[in-house]
Amino acid sequence: MSATVLDGKKIGRMIEEQLHNQIINLQSRDIFPHLAVVIVGDDPASHVYVRNKEMACERCGIKSTRIDLDGEISEEEILAIIHKLNSDNSVHGILVQSPLPEGINESMITDAILPEKDVDGFHKMNLGRLVQGDSSGLLPCTPAGIMKILELSNIDLSGKNALVIGRSRIVGMPMSILLAQRGIDATVTIAHSRTKNLPDICREADLVVAAIGRPEFVKSDWIKPGATVIDVGINRIQDSSRKSGYRLAGDVDSGAFNVAGHITPVPGGVGPMTIAMLMTNTIKATESMFR
Ligand code: NDP
Repeated sequence: MSATVLDGKKIGRMIEEQLHNQIINLQSRDIFPHLAVVIVGDDPASHVYVRNKEMACERCGIKSTRIDLDGEISEEEILAIIHKLNSDNSVHGILVQSPLPEGINESMITDAILPEKDVDGFHKMNLGRLVQGDSSGLLPCTPAGIMKILELSNIDLSGKNALVIGRSRIVGMPMSILLAQRGIDATVTIAHSRTKNLPDICREADLVVAAIGRPEFVKSDWIKPGATVIDVGINRIQDSSRKSGYRLAGDVDSGAFNVAGHITPVPGGVGPMTIAMLMTNTIKATESMFR
C-alpha cells in the first residue's frame, strides 16, 4: 500500500491565495497589514525560516520588517524592542523567531508581545483561550496548520485514537488540545520522553502526530496500516552529496509511506502549512484592530 501524500505546499499556497480578498479589502481602507519579525543571533536554520516567512509575506502582499539582533543582546534590550513594536500602530503582527540564545527566557519574551499582535499564538492569553475551548483567537501556527490540512483532506477524527508524540508549549501540547476539542472529538494520547511502550501505543493510533525533533525516530512498523501520519519534525542531517551539505529529515521513517493511509512529507508538509497560518494570523490580527 502506498500512502496518499498530504501536500502542505499546495494546500498552504491555496490558503495564502484565499487571503487575497481580505488583503485587498484592507488596502482599500488604507490599512496595510504589517508583520515584524525579530531574529536574534545567527542560527542558520532560523535564518532560513525567517527568509521563508518574508517570502510568504511578499507573495501575499503583507509588509514585513525584519529586525536582526546580535546574539549577545540582553533580555532587557529585546524587551525594549518588543515594547516599541507593541506601541507602533503600523505594526499588526510581531513574532520572535525561536530558538533564542541560551540565557534568554523565551516565554517571558513571548508574553511581552501584546496578545492581539501575537501572530505565533504563543502568548499565555492565546494559549489559555485554547484550553477554555475557544479556538477563535490567534492559534499557534503549526498545530493550526495541521488541523487545517486534516480538515481540507477530509480526514474524520471523531472517536478516533490520536497520538501526539511531543508535549512542547508550541507544538505538542496545543496540538493535543485542538484534537480533543468538541467538534473534532479525537481520543488523544500525549507521549513524551518518559512514555513507556511507545511502539505499542503508536500501533493503536489512527492518527500519529510526531513532534519530537529526532530524525526518523518513529519506525514504519509502529504505524497502523491506513493510519494518518503527520510528521512535524525538521531535522538537518549531514549529507556531503548535497550542495548545502545537509538534507532535511522528518521524525518518521520513510518506510511509513508504504504503511500509512495519508502522510505529510518533509519538506513540503507541515512547514508550508505553518507559514500559511502565520499569514492567516497576521490578517486576522490586522482586521481585529480595525473592527
Ligand atoms: P521540543 O524539543 O520542544 O519538544 C520535543 C518533544 O519531544 C518533548 O516533549 C520531548 O519529551 C519529546 N521527546 C524527546 N525524545 C523523545 C522520545 N525518545 N520519545 C518520545 N518523546 C520524546 O521540540 P518542538 O516541539 O519545538 O519541535 C519538535 C520538532 O518539530 C522539531 O524537529 C522542530 O524542528 C519541528 N518543528 C517544525 C515546525 C514546522 O513548521 N514544521 C514548527 C515547529 C517545530 P519531554 O517533554 O519529555 O522532553
